[in-house]
This record gives sequence, structure tokens and C-alpha cells, in this order.
Amino acid sequence: MGKGSVVPPLIGFAQLEKVLNHARANSLWPLTFGLACCAMEMMAAAGPKFDLDRFGAGVFRASPRQADVMIVAGTVTHKMADTVKRLYLQMPAPKWVIAMGNCAISGGPFKLDINYSVVEGVDAIVPVDVYVPGCPPRPEALIEAFLQLEEMICGVRRFPDPPVVTQELA
Ligand code: SF4
Repeated sequence: MGKGSVVPPLIGFAQLEKVLNHARANSLWPLTFGLACCAMEMMAAAGPKFDLDRFGAGVFRASPRQADVMIVAGTVTHKMADTVKRLYLQMPAPKWVIAMGNCAISGGPFKLDINYSVVEGVDAIVPVDVYVPGCPPRPEALIEAFLQLEEMICGVRRFPDPPVVTQELA
């Protein structure tokens, strides 16, 4: 389903929804959840050097009931798939999913004919809103994913600003 995985309301309150969406976009709370080496880059993104908190997304929650973003950072095995899905279902809507790294997107380097244990893409289990390719993606790439998610939620990209044309080209 994706796009926040919410059933459209019967009655719309457009202006209120707009305000709520800005609030949601600027206070995304990720689930504290890592599956493999990509999780190290996710942790680095939240650390002081990259400071994901600048974008309101640094409050990692230990409970899925208090989180609205699942970052699938690492290899998803069939053994783990049910748990990933259960965590997703326990998150309140609206909720979003970021597939971080080639493993989460497609099975990555573990997608081999002889390997039966890896799920070849977490989108087979939960709806994914933003994909972050790389093995591993750098923290900046995860931050870019959050900026894209914010734009997806409220329709406005906050950073970097659109280019300002100061003078006419001759
Ligand atoms: S994509 Fe690469 S870095 Fe990320 S979990 Fe898979 S093997 Fe590890």
C-alpha cells in the first residue's frame, strides 16, 4: 500500500490535514531496529557528525507503538520476516518504511542460487516508501531518504532550498 498506509477518510478536512502533515513530516520517529551492517550507517546518521536530529528524525523509539518510520537496515532472512512484519503491524498509522541498502531492497550480495534463506526485497513483506541503494549506503543517503519522505508527506522539500535565480542570463 505505501504512502503512509492509511485508508483515505470519508470526510476530508484539507487544511487540518495539511497542518497535521507538516507536523508529521517534521517529527518522524524511527523504530530502533537494525538487521545487519547497514544498521551501523543508520546509527552514524543519528550520531553527532551527521545529526539526523536537525531534520526532526533523531528520536529513535524502542517500541513500535511509538514509532512511525521503520528503517529496514540490513539483510532480511525468512526466519526474521515474520518479526519484521509484526513490528510493522504494531506501528500506528500513518507509518512509513525506508528500505536501506541493497540487502533490504533485493537481497544484495546474499542473493545467490545456493542461498535459500534471504528475502529478496523487504517489499515482499511490508510496503516500502523510499529505497536507499548502496552496500552500505552512507549516512548522507539515509538523510536524503528522510528529506524525500518529508516531501512525500507534506509536499514541501525543506533542504536544500530550490535554486534562486538572481539575474537574467544574457
Ligand atoms: S547492503 Fe551491504 S552493508 Fe547493508 S546489510 Fe547488506 S551486506 Fe551489509
